[in-house]
Amino acid sequence: MTGMLSLIMNANNLFDFGVCAYNKIADKLIECDSQNRIPPEAESVICVVFPTNADAVFNDPNEVFRLRRVASQMLELTCIALRKAFSEYLFEWFLDDSPVPDVMTASLCGLGAVGDSGLLLTPQYGSFCFIGSIVTDLIIPETGDEITGCVHCKKCIERCPAAALSEQGGFDKEKCVKYVSSSECKNANSFLLRQGAAVKGCNICREVCPYNQKIGRANGHPFIKAATNPGSIYTSDGGYKPMGGLGQEKFRKLPDDF
Ligand code: SF4
Ligand code: SF4
Repeated sequence: MTGMLSLIMNANNLFDFGVCAYNKIADKLIECDSQNRIPPEAESVICVVFPTNADAVFNDPNEVFRLRRVASQMLELTCIALRKAFSEYLFEWFLDDSPVPDVMTASLCGLGAVGDSGLLLTPQYGSFCFIGSIVTDLIIPETGDEITGCVHCKKCIERCPAAALSEQGGFDKEKCVKYVSSSECKNANSFLLRQGAAVKGCNICREVCPYNQKIGRANGHPFIKAATNPGSIYTSDGGYKPMGGLGQEKFRKLPDDF
């Protein structure tokens, strides 16, 4: 079953994913309207990391919003395929307005470490990424424990001009947004991705993090290529071309009893 899951995820251009038990996050859900979409007997959470360390994003930070729309399409197509493959089970995806505490969940899935900045530090992309998730009532083997990463240098906390980060690991989104919306902030052109939301931020907490110093560009990553290739089935307006030839096409060719 894990092989089938990987096949479906990969066919839909989702390669950086992991799984954790739903009960590990059940009492940490974020209050939002989407909470009622969580399957009633949820058992597992599949977390997916989407890289943003690409030239397209560094050249135009607004590109992040387009990438998020494409990621939504990929998650939607993946859920369609998963529902077909495991027809007795429910699969619901979340990205924006997500009840899933995504940084914590991704770390439980073994995808990265929670930094003192409150951001997910992944080995491949540092904190240049965002996180989507699929919640299901199918029991799926877990993929890992939290990995280490943050060296607790406190640079992010000390350098945050809004005092929005605390040593206890808290991130005060209001303080962050208030600062970057003020005339004091001279660099509000970049985006900070955490807790399922794209926040316009000064980004200092990412720039000073030693974890991000050694991260290269992910221009050739299948997600970036699929998101930026004009011939892709994913469109920039939030739709996609069904039966276009990527994930769905590959999936339809699978034998029914695979
Ligand atoms: S984006 Fe800037 S203001 Fe917001 S938490 Fe990071 S360093 Fe602080
Ligand atoms: S700047 Fe230092 S303390 Fe902050 S997340 Fe990065 S490694 Fe951790």
